[in-house]
Amino acid sequence: MTQLMTEDGIRCDGRRLDELRNISIKVGVLKNADGSAYIEFGKNKILAGVFGPRDVHPKHMANPDSGILRCRYHMSPFSVTERKNPAPSRREIEISKVIKEALQPAVILKDYPRTVIDVFIEVLQADGGSRCAALDAAAVALADAGIPMRDLVSACAAGKVADRIVLDVNNEEDQEGQADMPVALMPNIGKVTLLQLDGMLKPEEFKTCMQTALVGCKRVYEVQRKALMEKYFQNGEQ
Ligand code: ADP
Repeated sequence: MTQLMTEDGIRCDGRRLDELRNISIKVGVLKNADGSAYIEFGKNKILAGVFGPRDVHPKHMANPDSGILRCRYHMSPFSVTERKNPAPSRREIEISKVIKEALQPAVILKDYPRTVIDVFIEVLQADGGSRCAALDAAAVALADAGIPMRDLVSACAAGKVADRIVLDVNNEEDQEGQADMPVALMPNIGKVTLLQLDGMLKPEEFKTCMQTALVGCKRVYEVQRKALMEKYFQNGEQ
């Protein structure tokens, strides 16, 4: 078993307790999608492509009062060490659902009745926290597609490793740690749109974990904002 943390709180990948992995986001990387983004979040490598608003197929799924949002999170066969079956697993179906529910409050769907906005997420390489990284890329891809939004959605996990609360759990910490709590936030509105918890936390630990994750989400937001600025205002300034 790997040593997850040293006595003085240095984690297995050299980070401090409250340190995020390196994040880089590129906007508009796909020519054929209406909007797209590529994120590297530590060793996670994820592409998000958005189509829409466009006609709904099958037609009976259309809502006359509002647009609909569909999300597909998919892991490529080479995204993990053992070849992953390309067919959607229960885990991918669950993650697709929670990503959709995390993005939906931010997207102004009322403006586009009878249409669909499709978000396709391809995980090229996974290393723990891929649902949060996928959400971060998807929110930026929606903005890149020009979809009206109330806010961006910024996501980051916190967790418990070696009895300490840590920010941004990596794969090793996820597998061998005590808790993993992915959180998504609309950072300007201040609303949480995703909260999951795998593991057990005492009430006090939960509070600290939540605060830690929210700080992480706000830091992720700055990276998302900068990436969008870089595409739309070349010098990165407003
Ligand atoms: P998240 O990626 O959002 O943290 P999980 O907690 O379910 O989601 O997964 C944690 C990590 O486990 C993933 O990021 C990935 O590195 C690894 N993993 C997920 N599915 C598989 C799989 N089928 N085979 C090997 N590793 C996997």
